[in-house]
Amino acid sequence: MLIHLSHIQRLYRSDEVETTALQDIDLQIQLGEFVAIMGPSGCGKSTLLNILGTIDRPSAGSYRFADQELTAMNEAELARFRRENLGYVFQSFNLIDELTVEDNIDLALVYRGMPKAERRRRVTEAMDRVGIAHRARHYPSQLSGGQQQRAAIARAIVGEPSLILADEPTGNLDTENGAQVMEMLQGLNDEGATIIMVTHSPSHADLARRRIDMLDGQVIVSVRNAI
Ligand code: ADP
Ligand code: MG
Repeated sequence: MLIHLSHIQRLYRSDEVETTALQDIDLQIQLGEFVAIMGPSGCGKSTLLNILGTIDRPSAGSYRFADQELTAMNEAELARFRRENLGYVFQSFNLIDELTVEDNIDLALVYRGMPKAERRRRVTEAMDRVGIAHRARHYPSQLSGGQQQRAAIARAIVGEPSLILADEPTGNLDTENGAQVMEMLQGLNDEGATIIMVTHSPSHADLARRRIDMLDGQVIVSVRNAI
């Protein structure tokens, strides 16, 4: 088992109100799975993905990743865990505007302290992989949405993460670019990457191997797709 969540809760407290973003999530995900998470706005999808990505901490519960208890780790340990294991893709791409495409992708490896020659080889490979090499020296503002998401996917995969987390990766893309992003994710999954993707698109969810439906901070259905 790659991921084992038990009794995960996430509460947001302010002076006046308490919001239960996640109620009591039990979820297991195996190595090599491709899971789509669906559900209405506000049901807790991003909160769950952020907890899986250790960007956010649960208020209660256990998160085991390949036999490590992540809720017991401190921030430095989690930062290292993220660098070594995770790749993120967001709806709004989240590239750094002041850096070129290749420097955006390279930054993911700089953080790992990798030698420059090795970084260059990997960045080139990742750019080729997603078809963005011809825009290596461009800045994000000079690219279309589809190209920016390709660059963001290259950044997510350049460190060869075991888990890719994608929050509505096709949400800002037209049909054709959305389909291409889905093809890339499927290709990465075929090669062994575990992928967890939030989506509002039923047809994109059908391309995953499993679909999880959420409502009011809970997982209500988990079904295996026939693919
Ligand atoms: P989704 O991604 O499914 O649209 P979210 O995970 O973003 O839903 O949000 C789940 C619930 O938690 C919502 O009710 C939202 O308002 C609340 N929430 C999310 N982030 C915060 C926050 N930083 N502070 C307070 N409430 C939040
Ligand atoms: Mg969301």
